[in-house]
Amino acid sequence: MVFENLSNKLQEVFKKLKGKGRLTEEDVNLALREVRIALLEADVNFQVVKDFIAKVKEKAVGHEVLESLTPGQQVIKIVHEELINLMGKTNAKLNDAGSPPTIIMLVGLQGAGKTTTAAKLAYLLKKQGKKPLLVAADVYRPAAIKQLQVLGDTIDVPVFTMGEQSPVDIAKASINFAKSNLKNYVIIDTAGRLHINEELMDELKKIKDVVHPHEILLVVDAMTGQDAVNVAKSFNDELGLTGVILTKLDGDTKGGAALSVKAVTGCPIKFAGMGEKIENLEPFYPDRMASRILG
Ligand code: GDP
Repeated sequence: MVFENLSNKLQEVFKKLKGKGRLTEEDVNLALREVRIALLEADVNFQVVKDFIAKVKEKAVGHEVLESLTPGQQVIKIVHEELINLMGKTNAKLNDAGSPPTIIMLVGLQGAGKTTTAAKLAYLLKKQGKKPLLVAADVYRPAAIKQLQVLGDTIDVPVFTMGEQSPVDIAKASINFAKSNLKNYVIIDTAGRLHINEELMDELKKIKDVVHPHEILLVVDAMTGQDAVNVAKSFNDELGLTGVILTKLDGDTKGGAALSVKAVTGCPIKFAGMGEKIENLEPFYPDRMASRILG
């Protein structure tokens, strides 16, 4: 399970803290050193860990905490709050178009889970009473169009395709189609590559310029840890992301990406992929994730 190791380690540290009754500044420093190691082992970005520990320390070594009746609990509470802050405080909702349709571009590397996530997101929106349209603009991976059509069929959401024509033209035409068919959400599945390259970014920029999306969401595989964060940084620099969808948080990923992405890129995690099934996409709640980590 995600965060299992981190969670176990932190619980151990906190058990010691709670068991002490009174705490000295040195006790707190010692505990935070162990928290630091646990976070680094969970693959959290080095700088993120450094800033995190500094913030917790600043709040935790004051008189109010150390002289309180339950100093251990207070320190744990501070760690909990800072974990929530690290992941973006609250659930970041989808941007909404003033006048429909709301246009969502999904971008990411091949294999991250883009096509599956497009369908999952459509399903989620449909359940909320919205009328989504899926757009097959990943024309380079031969199976992607078919894959999206099959997924669209399963959830009874229309899929706009124009075969292997220019993704920019497809994206543009899909918006007109959505308007004339009263679809209020357009989810564009764009092409991915194995690595970030100029060609990929240029095409995504062109689509962006033509459709003016309200959301550019990066779909990124949480299992890739630090790489996920670097990928997010590159896409954000090039395209200006509005958010991130972390996939494969159901696997036994260490979870470092979930704890680092927001701090490194400034982009909130809006959704989390929690499995292969169509219903396994959830809005991302920093507070729930923090509680899960702290057990
Ligand atoms: P794309 O190349 O980015 O479009 O990736 P796909 O949508 O084809 O997904 C690649 C693989 O990842 C597929 O086998 C998906 O079932 C799997 N996948 C996607 N999201 C998740 C997730 O949240 N959890 C798990 N366990 N697998 C996922």
